[in-house]
Amino acid sequence: MIAQQTIQQILSRTDIIEVVGGFVRLKKRGANYLGLCPFHNEKTPSFTVSPAKEIYKCFGCGRSGNTISFLMEHEKYSYADALRWLAAKYNVEIEETEVSPELRQKQQVADSLHIINGFAQKYFSHILWEHEEGQDIGLSYLRERGFGDEIIRKFQLGYALDSRDAFSKAALAAQYNPEYLQRCGLAVLREDRLVDNYRGRIIFPVHNQSGKVIGFGARIIKSNDRAPKYINTPENELYVKSRILYGSWHARQAIDKQDECLLVEGYTDVVSLHQAGIENVVASGGTSLTIDQLRLIRKYTNRLTIIYDGDSAGIKAALRGLDMALEESLDVKLVLIPDKEDPDSYVRKLGASAFRDFIAANKKDFILFQLEVSLRDAGGDSNKKAAVVNQVAETISRINKAQDFTRQQDYIRQCAELLRIDEGGLHALVNKFIREGLGRRENREASASGGQFATGMGVSEAGGLASDHASRASDSAGFAAGAPSAEEEDSISLLFRHEQNERGMIRSLLEFGLKPWNEDKLVADYILEQARDYYEMIDNKRLLRILETYKEWYEEGIEPSTKSFLYHEDQELSTLAVSIMDFRHQLSLNWKDHYEGKIATAEDLYKEDVLSTMSYLKLRKIKRLMDENQKDLDQPHSDAEQLMLIQTHMHLKNMEMELLQHVGTVIVK
Ligand code: ZN
Repeated sequence: MIAQQTIQQILSRTDIIEVVGGFVRLKKRGANYLGLCPFHNEKTPSFTVSPAKEIYKCFGCGRSGNTISFLMEHEKYSYADALRWLAAKYNVEIEETEVSPELRQKQQVADSLHIINGFAQKYFSHILWEHEEGQDIGLSYLRERGFGDEIIRKFQLGYALDSRDAFSKAALAAQYNPEYLQRCGLAVLREDRLVDNYRGRIIFPVHNQSGKVIGFGARIIKSNDRAPKYINTPENELYVKSRILYGSWHARQAIDKQDECLLVEGYTDVVSLHQAGIENVVASGGTSLTIDQLRLIRKYTNRLTIIYDGDSAGIKAALRGLDMALEESLDVKLVLIPDKEDPDSYVRKLGASAFRDFIAANKKDFILFQLEVSLRDAGGDSNKKAAVVNQVAETISRINKAQDFTRQQDYIRQCAELLRIDEGGLHALVNKFIREGLGRRENREASASGGQFATGMGVSEAGGLASDHASRASDSAGFAAGAPSAEEEDSISLLFRHEQNERGMIRSLLEFGLKPWNEDKLVADYILEQARDYYEMIDNKRLLRILETYKEWYEEGIEPSTKSFLYHEDQELSTLAVSIMDFRHQLSLNWKDHYEGKIATAEDLYKEDVLSTMSYLKLRKIKRLMDENQKDLDQPHSDAEQLMLIQTHMHLKNMEMELLQHVGTVIVK
């Protein structure tokens, strides 16, 4: 690992204008620089770089980040590679930290497995092209299926001889470690002898994000065999199934350029579509999509199109992970391939351009498609229809990031139309699921690290609306009555306002934390002190992570700066920090130029800014206490109790009034 000291040194010398300017022609415009966005096609520049904040943002496509994420995104570097590139550019000598013995051991194993996989890939390709059996059986099979030599070489396909130990012998002769050969899934031990795991099979190497072979899929040729159709590499240091999308190495640039990722089931579908010139395609390998796979797709695009053939069990499995996709802000479309066809056969039948037209013309929205299917299944059964309503509301409730607000509203409108129910009622039900989902989701996210999420559309897991609407009107939040309460209508916009307040607090902390608050305190002291009482009020657990990380550093005597977070190795934290430190504040600084300093700048107003954001949190807490008190008031009470509750209400109301004065001083961000 690169030493923290080196990283600091690199970052202190890095000039974002110089680095980004090396790839994009930038022109100075006020405090910022402007250029044509390298991530999407545009004629008028909307790609903005701020030298002061050391971030960039495109107002056309929305991409944003820091110098390192620019290099990672534009040049496809890893975090460490981006640092190395900068170190070379700015003549910083890299110091590597001591690695723990366990980590070094793990790296050595991974290195060995990489070397063995590389050897195996070359061996199997050699057999396919040069060996008689490889040519007669393997190559002729591939050619019969319509694969040309060029595509076979591009995907490094190979052939494993139908032999007991041809590969194992070759590997042992080349001095490869028998234990690692087994760990790679290339050989197995039978009666103390190493024998081949793949026999008489076509070999599909699986590549990682930097193009190295991390495993294999071995497909059977003789269809009358009782053996499994595919044998895949077992999980090991390199091959982690939940993080792999077959073809992602070959598809990455096409996905980026076309801003869309096609998902199919099998290896041959990927290779076949590639050969037809459709290169933005990956395969799920027939399992439920995992959060890691979805995030891999999101690195390149947020448009996912699933090509689905009716009988494909694998794609059905992939569909089960899809509500996670909605939470990841992916826009998911489905295309159904006609009966008895799969993507491989269908692209051969139609040809590339007709296939592409077919995809474009038959794309269905994932949510609307599921709704149509469920409604058809429900028929005239009102019980089933009620379950469908619940199911669709639950699904829509997962699209609730601030940037997805319009999409969510569109879905509510379209689904209400399809269901022939009142839009306001559906809206209220969605809000109910959002409230219930917030806690659940954050918990799940905290425990999620590459696990599978086959939670499915969960038809009835959420319970709720039964057939006898009237009797359950109270907990289905006005749905049965057909009109949402004012509170329900408000709750989405309120959720977003809360999120803004929370972000505002973190922004104040990052931006002003090290400035004086009063004679003996810094702003950070004040915010951290105050925030302690309001942790439970912070809904966004990732923001809470920034707060806690800041606190940890601060207490250790490290002075956390905006930079520490912008360049945090954890991409999730860094992305969040970038989105918090956006350009809105900078814009207000431009007022200074206009009014020659007559107007206070955001810089001067920082104390009020801090006070205002903290007041919001307090207001929320008071509001919550008032709500609880009000609920209590609605119950029958003795006169004395009643009086006490009213006094509590008055007290809270006074606190609220006082706080509102602070909040009013600074424009809501
Ligand atoms: Zn752009």
